[in-house]
Amino acid sequence: MATRKAKQVCPTPGCPTLTDAGRCPPCQAQARAARPSTHARGYDRRWRDASARYLEDHPYCECEQCAPLPPLQRDLATEVDHVDGLGPLGPRGFDPANWQAMSKRHHSAKTARETFGT
Ligand SMILES: [Zn+2]
Ligand SMILES: [Zn+2]
Repeated sequence: MATRKAKQVCPTPGCPTLTDAGRCPPCQAQARAARPSTHARGYDRRWRDASARYLEDHPYCECEQCAPLPPLQRDLATEVDHVDGLGPLGPRGFDPANWQAMSKRHHSAKTARETFGT
């Protein structure tokens, strides 16, 4: 208590900044901006079960790019996307009318557009 704590190196790997405690302010801001874990966003067991059932009925990618193609020319779907972009915790998280089956690469492309596009 009487002695001032020595400064420590920011715990972020590769960051050399000295801080009083915890991460340096730029790293704190970055950590806040990072997306929470998939589980925190509602992608839990209940979601996995529901989406697995949906994919049994929707085996092909239903993205904008694939929708006009005949099924055999589409990617195989491995993931269920929320059309509203809000995930399982959104108001329509478990509404199949808000879902579309997607292949991993098309889903990643859409997520990247949602995250960085607007
Ligand atoms: Zn830092
Ligand atoms: Zn697709």
